[in-house]
Amino acid sequence: MTSINDNDPRKIILKSLKEDMLSHAYLFLGPETPQKINLLLELSRLLLCENIDEDVVPCGRCIHCLKSKNLSHPDFFVIEPDGVFIKIEQIRNLQEQIIFPPLEAKRRICLILRSKDLNESAANALLKTLEEPPEDTHIFLSAPSTKALLPTIVSRCHVVNIPPEKLFGSEFERDSISRLIFSQDPTLEDKIKSEDVEQLREALIAFLVSNEKDLAFFEVEELAASSRESFRAFLLIFNTLVRDLYILINEGHEKQREKISKNILNDRYFQEIGKLALKLNCDTLRSFEKRLKECDMMLKRNVKIDMLADNLLIFWIKHQRDNE
Ligand SMILES: [Zn+2]
Repeated sequence: MTSINDNDPRKIILKSLKEDMLSHAYLFLGPETPQKINLLLELSRLLLCENIDEDVVPCGRCIHCLKSKNLSHPDFFVIEPDGVFIKIEQIRNLQEQIIFPPLEAKRRICLILRSKDLNESAANALLKTLEEPPEDTHIFLSAPSTKALLPTIVSRCHVVNIPPEKLFGSEFERDSISRLIFSQDPTLEDKIKSEDVEQLREALIAFLVSNEKDLAFFEVEELAASSRESFRAFLLIFNTLVRDLYILINEGHEKQREKISKNILNDRYFQEIGKLALKLNCDTLRSFEKRLKECDMMLKRNVKIDMLADNLLIFWIKHQRDNE
């Protein structure tokens, strides 16, 4: 495993390309935000573009750019989980298609999004390809952290840490969460202000970390249940916190804190979330994640939002007590 720390993933790829040192496999670390996915699509297109010598690549005009943009390029493969996991059939299918040299472009790109969701047999199958990569084939893996993958997979990749501003846009604080929330549910954008998103987030975090739950409970419940939009935003915020907690529980020992904080969505509340992570385990988070999904479904079925909010917050209190 070679870890690359120069900040700009685009520069890293272009430099390797110019020096004819492109690796067969790259692992791009950082939460799978929409910005990260866009960046990885762009990096893939960059390597397919035929005007690579020009200043602006991908050029957006050549046949490769056009086809890769439509995801109709025969040398560009994008794999995502089919349901919960990336399954072995998906990897086998890919392997069958990459035996021969690239069809139209100089090289072939296989972008595997959410690689942490490779199931065991799929991961082992992929490992074979990484061990003996076909010529002119480059595999881009995306994962939140190296811990999310088999060490044998990580060891065969160039690891690239994507800097926070590329994951969340240039202003990486207050606005980033609202932007993330709005990008996940664009219908919310006109209906709820980013200040309200921020207020909800503050109240929710205060509730999660508070030992005296009663007061914090009513405050967050009131905000979350004030409208259906607020409640939807509340669920999305809650999801970002659960995601941050996963990262901290999986990687959270002190020495790594500084590095990890860059991958945390709710960076401003790093201290609070860090303390919370010490009290929780992944099983609790998984059951909570499930509960969040159920809530989302019940919201679509018009179940009353104050009931859903209560139910969710009480579920949290109960689980936290069980952990203590
Ligand atoms: Zn092009």
